[in-house]
Amino acid sequence: MDTLTTPGSNSLDAYWMPFTANRDFKANAALISHAEGLYYFTSNGHRLLDAIAGLWCVNAGHGHPRIVEAIQKQAARLDFASSFGLGHPLVFEYANRLTSIAPADMNHVFFTNSGSEAADTAIKIALAYHHARGEGQRQRIVGRQRGYHGVGFGGLSAAGMGPHKKQFGMLLPGAVHLPHTHDPVRNAFSLGQPRHGAELADALEQMIATYDASTIAAVIVEPVAGSTGVLVPPVGYLERLRELCTRHGILLIFDEVVTGFGRLGRPFAADRFGVIPDLLMVAKGMTNGAVPMGGVIASSAIYDAVTGKAGSGAVELSHGYTYSGHPLAAAAGLASLDVYVSEGLFERAARLEPHWQTCAHTLKGLPGVVDIRNLGLLAGIELGEDPVRGKALARNVYEHCFDHGVLVRPVANTIVLSPPLTIGEDEIETIFATIKAALKSD
Ligand code: PMP
Repeated sequence: MDTLTTPGSNSLDAYWMPFTANRDFKANAALISHAEGLYYFTSNGHRLLDAIAGLWCVNAGHGHPRIVEAIQKQAARLDFASSFGLGHPLVFEYANRLTSIAPADMNHVFFTNSGSEAADTAIKIALAYHHARGEGQRQRIVGRQRGYHGVGFGGLSAAGMGPHKKQFGMLLPGAVHLPHTHDPVRNAFSLGQPRHGAELADALEQMIATYDASTIAAVIVEPVAGSTGVLVPPVGYLERLRELCTRHGILLIFDEVVTGFGRLGRPFAADRFGVIPDLLMVAKGMTNGAVPMGGVIASSAIYDAVTGKAGSGAVELSHGYTYSGHPLAAAAGLASLDVYVSEGLFERAARLEPHWQTCAHTLKGLPGVVDIRNLGLLAGIELGEDPVRGKALARNVYEHCFDHGVLVRPVANTIVLSPPLTIGEDEIETIFATIKAALKSD
């Protein structure tokens, strides 16, 4: 790895980095100094093709001039205005624009500052909805194994990643988990959506039999699980979940923090799969990663039930963040959406998907490759017959790619990829050729 010489022996220690092996990283740190378009540049001048769009967020590429300008202008015009009983026009405009690209009937946005806050907010809205309808006993949240919904206590409880929970005690009571849909035996090397596994959704029926539907508030899933290795839902699976939720009065929450804003070639995964949730979580690509922001888009039925009738003056949802609907985030969000739409980036992702898929699957048969999963401009390359060897292999691939100018992301034994939607065919080929060389050199 190309390392950074840092001034002063302790200069890296003050920053306690998130989700990082701090001491290992700091012994061998390579820091990013700037970025442009598809590329990062390190402080010592190394150029990296960003094959992960920052962290699944920079969909229009880094430093897009229209987004930069919008943030700069907004900072000079209005730096902050509370959303607690106050407001500024831009955030209302942005909410309208967002709901105009959201699935039909999803007409209301509650703004947060991150995906984790969106998860906690969606869970709280689901609970408040049932409470408002006199069904306050519906409190159980159903998540899924290998789900990731950020790090707040709600999202963490619903998530199904054991290692993230170990340090934090009891979490939310009553969270239960559907099985994940990863089936490397029946579905290995599927092109796009795997064929087998729709019946895994029926585990919800067993839960209903065990706990009774009248105790279950919501089911929360990522349409495509990202952080746990790009797990694409089997054909028919999400449809089945939707059908069961509707039949039993359970809300369906889609965590579209990764899949939103064109990642699957449509505005949202809900559009791609033709399955409409009751609550839809967004973050990341919302502002092209430029300013922290998240949100929950709610159906009219939920908004109407929770907000009730005008006239009482009572606060109906006791929830919100100081920075909900922050002016800079709203400006970045509006500009990002303008760029996505005017540059046709969702359609571009759809157009590039076949080439992306073909290139990804050229890795089949290489040493260590046990599965390749893809949809839209997402891919997961699973490595190693056993998880320990696979994890080491993924780390080696990451380092090789880094040294050869491509930034990929190892998560456990899988290399995950989610490039900016502005990527071209040549750069797609570069990404997979570099991974191929890494696998051959191991
Ligand atoms: N949900 C999903 C599906 C995510 O991938 C992430 C972040 N990777 C989150 C929620 C949490 O978002 P944040 O890190 O902005 O809190």
